[in-house]
Amino acid sequence: MAKDEAKASDFSKGLLQSEELYKYILETSVYPREPEALKELRSVTHNYPMANMATAPDAGQLMEMLLNLVNARKTIEVGVFTGYSLLLTALTLPEDGKVIAIDVNRSTYEIGLPVIKKAGVEHKIDFRESEALPVLDELLNHEENEGGFDFAFVDADKVSYWNYHERLMRLIKVGGIIVYDNTLWGGSVAEPDSSTPEGKREGKKAILELNKKLSADKRVQISQVALGDGITICRRLY
Ligand code: SAH
Ligand code: CA
Repeated sequence: MAKDEAKASDFSKGLLQSEELYKYILETSVYPREPEALKELRSVTHNYPMANMATAPDAGQLMEMLLNLVNARKTIEVGVFTGYSLLLTALTLPEDGKVIAIDVNRSTYEIGLPVIKKAGVEHKIDFRESEALPVLDELLNHEENEGGFDFAFVDADKVSYWNYHERLMRLIKVGGIIVYDNTLWGGSVAEPDSSTPEGKREGKKAILELNKKLSADKRVQISQVALGDGITICRRLY
């Protein structure tokens, strides 16, 4: 993709009120540093239905930094779609790193898979086509997995986030990080239900509950970031 790669659709999902400002951020700080493989993955995802589910590149940049800060070697991803955040993780992990990537739908993962293979990082990915909860529970059947992971990215069905949190709090080591995506739910968390489209209300309810519970959860330090669709970073304290 060339200089004009910032398409109108790139600016439709952020919470920033100014399209110009978001464009400025992407063009100044994000796109010039985004690896070619990730640009390619965005491009193959672009024409696919629901392409806007993919992680935004500015959120990806933050995720890359968090992975580096915890020296992530073993990670978990819940919600892969075509693999933008997954490829970013695999590119960031060391050669012997591993990401367990879970999604109910393998066919969307396969859209991005050729790009992942070409980037030479497929060996770091352990893809599981499944509902996420049974996979997390199965991991917890093996004692060595308790505290065995450095980082997790959760970007799947919002109604299950708290169930994931309870499992991930045992799988992620003390000092490790869990990132939850879409925690501002298009900004609807601060609007009356009457302004929220019917189809978005269940997710909104789940996110509102999650945000309250995370805020009260003394086991984690949190930071609610108004980037992308809202991201909550949790660092396990004990
Ligand atoms: N992180 C991805 C976007 C994920 S979109 C990216 O960067 O592109 C949400 C994904 O969650 C979808 O692919 C969907 O199939 C998956 N998903 C939804 N419910 C799930 C569940 N219960 N278990 C596992 N995956 C689920
Ligand atoms: Ca998301």
